[in-house]
Amino acid sequence: MYDLIIEKGDLIDGSRAPRRRLDLGIRGDRVASIGDLSGEKARQRLDAKGKILAPGFVDVHNHSDAWLLKIPHLLPKTTQGFTTEVIMADGISYAPVNPHTAPDWIFYMRALNALLYEEYTGWQSLGEYMAALDGRSVQNAITHLPYANVRVLAQGYGRAAPDDFQMSQIRGMVEQGMAEGAVGVSTGLDYLSEFFASTAELAEACAPMSAQGGLYVTHVRYRKGTLEGVKEAVEIGRRAKVPVHISHLKGTTPEQIDAILSYIDQTAVHEVDFTFDVYPYLPGSTMLNFILPYEVWEEGPMGVLPRLKEPQIRARFAHGLAAYKLDQTFIAWLPGKENSRYLGKSLAQYVAAVGKPAADALCDLLIEEHLAVLLVFHYGDDKLVFPFLAHEKYMMGTDGIYFPDGAVHPRMYGSAGRLLGSCVRDHHLFSLEDAVYKLSAHPASRFGLKDRGLLKEGAFADVVVFDPQAVADRATYQDPHQYCTGIDHVFVNGVQIIREGKEVKDLPRPLPGRALKFKQ
Ligand SMILES: [Zn+2]
Repeated sequence: MYDLIIEKGDLIDGSRAPRRRLDLGIRGDRVASIGDLSGEKARQRLDAKGKILAPGFVDVHNHSDAWLLKIPHLLPKTTQGFTTEVIMADGISYAPVNPHTAPDWIFYMRALNALLYEEYTGWQSLGEYMAALDGRSVQNAITHLPYANVRVLAQGYGRAAPDDFQMSQIRGMVEQGMAEGAVGVSTGLDYLSEFFASTAELAEACAPMSAQGGLYVTHVRYRKGTLEGVKEAVEIGRRAKVPVHISHLKGTTPEQIDAILSYIDQTAVHEVDFTFDVYPYLPGSTMLNFILPYEVWEEGPMGVLPRLKEPQIRARFAHGLAAYKLDQTFIAWLPGKENSRYLGKSLAQYVAAVGKPAADALCDLLIEEHLAVLLVFHYGDDKLVFPFLAHEKYMMGTDGIYFPDGAVHPRMYGSAGRLLGSCVRDHHLFSLEDAVYKLSAHPASRFGLKDRGLLKEGAFADVVVFDPQAVADRATYQDPHQYCTGIDHVFVNGVQIIREGKEVKDLPRPLPGRALKFKQ
C-alpha cells in the first residue's frame, strides 16, 4: 500500500536521462517505488497524463533567509517548483551573530529580508538559526556560512587584516559552521567588511573546510571586474584546496562573455572543482547602499548614516553613481510610508521630483530610509545570459529578493518557469531533461543534499509535476507578482504543498520543510 501513486506521467529523473513513462509510488517521506504501479494499491492516486514528473528544484542563490522564518509558504518560489533553498548567500545574513552584531545585521539587511528586531528570538549560531527554521516552512533549507558575519564577530567591521588570534577565531568558526551542517563559506566581496578581505585572508579562512569538501561560494569583486574576480576565486579555491562556486555569473558584452567562458573552460575547471549559477535575466537587483564608497562601512552599518552628510563622501558616491543609468534603475522597495509613492519609479524620476542633485537626493533618501532602499535595473539583453545557462557547469540560482509590496525583480517569480519554458521551447538552449538537471540533480549533488535531486527509489519525495507545454514565467518588471504557469503539483518530503498550481492550505504543523545538513 502506497500513500500516493503519481501515475501515467513521463518521469525525468534529473540525471539527464531521457524521460520515460513510469509511475511513482510514495510512502511516508520517500519515493518507495518507480515502475508500472497500475496494479498497486494506494490511499491516493494522481493522474499525471501528459505531465512531467521531476525531482524537486533547488535554488542555490537566494535571499530567502528570514522570509522562510517570517512566512510559512513562500509561494513565489514553490509555484516555480523549488523545494529546497540554499540560504545565506553573498556572505551576509542573520547568523552567526552575537547580541551586539544581531541588531547591525537586522538593520543592514532590511532591504533584502525585512526582518524586524521584534522578530529576532535570540539565536546566535548557524545551528540555532537552522533549528528555528526546521518545520517552520513548507520548503527545505540548507545554509552557507556567511563570511561577513564571521569576520565581524572576530574583528569588527574595519579594513585591517585579521591578526593571528583573529584568524584562529575565524577558522574555528568555519569549523563550527561545517559541524553545524553548512555547505561551505559564502562571500560577497562587494559587501560590507568583505571588500576589506584579501585573497590570502580568504584562502586561509576557507582551508579548514577542505577535509569535508565544503564549498567556497562567492559573489566575486564584480565592482572591480568580473574576470579578475573569478580568477581570484579560483586562486582562493586552489590555495585552500576547496571546490569553487561563483554566484550570479554573467557578462554584459559578447567580448566580456567570451573572455569569462574561455577562462572557465581553459583554466578554471582544470585548477579547481568549478561551478556557477545565474538567474535567466540580464538586469540585476541590489541595494542602493551597494554603491556607497567602502570607507563609510568601517564602523559598521550603524556608523554609515552620519557619514552620508559629509561632502567628500557625497562626491565619491556621485562618482560611483555615474556608472548607472538612473532613468533605467528603479526603486523596488523601501520601508518608509512617505516615500512609498516612489515604488516602481526610476531614480531619475525620484531625483527630478525632489529637485536636488542626484547624489544629494539619493544620500538623503538613504538617510530617510535608514539605508534600506532596494533597486531593480531594467537594462540589458537577456540573450547575453544564454551562454552561461547552456554551460555544462551551470545550475540555477534565482537571486530572488522578495517584498510582497515591492516592485521586485521578476527573477523571484519566474526563473524556473523561464528555464523550463522559453529557454527549452523557444530558444532551444538545451533539452527539457537538461533543464531539469540544472534545477535538481546538479545543484543537489553540488550542495551535498543527501538523497535529493534524483527521482529514484529510496530518495526523499521532493517531487514536481509540471506541464512541459504550458510551463512558463509570467512575471515582468512592470508586473512582477505573477506566478509561473504549468507547475501543477509540488511535494516536499512526501507532503503536497501545491495542488493544481495553488497553495495547499491548513497543512499540519510542523510543516514539511526541513533544515538539511551538508552530506547528511
Ligand atoms: Zn550577490
